[in-house]
Parts: sequence; structure tokens; C-alpha cells
Amino acid sequence: MSTDTYRKKRDFSRSPEPSGRRGGNGRQPRFVIQRHDASNEHYDFRLEADGVLKSWAVPRGPSTDPREKRLAVEVEDHPLDYADFEGVIPEGEYGAGTVMVWDRGTYDYPAGKDEGTQESNVAAAIKSGHLVVNLRGEKLRGGYALQRMRGGKKPQWLLVKINDDQADARRNPVSTQGKSVLSGRTLKQIAREEKDTAESR
Ligand code: MN
Repeated sequence: MSTDTYRKKRDFSRSPEPSGRRGGNGRQPRFVIQRHDASNEHYDFRLEADGVLKSWAVPRGPSTDPREKRLAVEVEDHPLDYADFEGVIPEGEYGAGTVMVWDRGTYDYPAGKDEGTQESNVAAAIKSGHLVVNLRGEKLRGGYALQRMRGGKKPQWLLVKINDDQADARRNPVSTQGKSVLSGRTLKQIAREEKDTAESR
């Protein structure tokens, strides 16, 4: 059911009423960043939009320093329930290695106020090659810009922290906050515990 008429009648910068521009089922869309110890360690940055997780592989991980531009390679959409996945992808399988839920939370898409849901606007912005999202994670907060630099089969983007009050050049969460926000485990602990579980089966 569309709420276009509802929204057209209201100015949500003046009224505290809900805008309805949330996820399709009324909650805030989620984001997750998974640390992935595959053949090359990287961070998978995923945004819930249009019923899937839009995904980028970020080799050096996200930064809280607005001067740091991080390469983000667009990869295939993942299903929504992948956001909770932490474990080991077995040898010989695609992406073999350990996956950790490094950060997660909800996000806002402040631009594009007048059309559709936040999520469908995000999907359109991704197609256009530029978007800014406001993250509410445990490690990362505030604005992050994604800018597409090169298209093709594996489009290359840059992920950059917006210079807002959450920006902090002194923090370096990729090196100082390496554990899972889901389980508190390190990559080694996840790998070992999943191996023990597999062996006891
Ligand atoms: Mn990956």
C-alpha cells in the first residue's frame, strides 16, 4: 500500500508524525559490516534496500577519518538473513574463510525525502552512483558517502566518512576494535569454535 498521499500532505521537518519512509515492514533498514578472512581479508559493507542487502567489499575496511578514501568494490546482492551470519565458509566453497559480524545497526537515508520509502530511494541512489547514509552502529556512526568511480562488471566505489560530529581522525576501529559485535569473539575464536562444533557433529 502506498503512503504517497499521506506524505504529500505533511511536512515532516515540522511535524513529529512518522513519515513512513522506513523499511517495507515499518522498521528502520539495517546495515551490517562483516569482517571476512578469505584469501584476501576484507570488510563486506551491506545496506538493506529493496528487500536485499546491497553489498560492497572494502579491502581496507571503513575509516572514521573523512580524509581517508576507501575502495569499495560492488558485489552481488545478498539475502537479508545474511546480516546475522557469523561462521566459517568451508574450503573449496565460494568465499572460503571466516566471517565475523564486525558492526551492525540501522541507517537513515536523509536525502530524497519526497518519494517512496527510504529503502527504494537508496536503491535508486545506488543505481545513480552516489549516496550518503547515516549509520547507527556500535562502532560506526554518522554519515558515510559512497561514490561510484568506475562501472563495469565489478563497479568500483569510494567509501568516505562525512565530516560530521561523528568523524574522528584519531579513531581507527578496524585496528583497535577487531571483535564481533554479535558474539564478542575474535576471528580465531570463531574459526576454532566452529571447527569444534563441526567435529562434534
Ligand atoms: Mn566477502
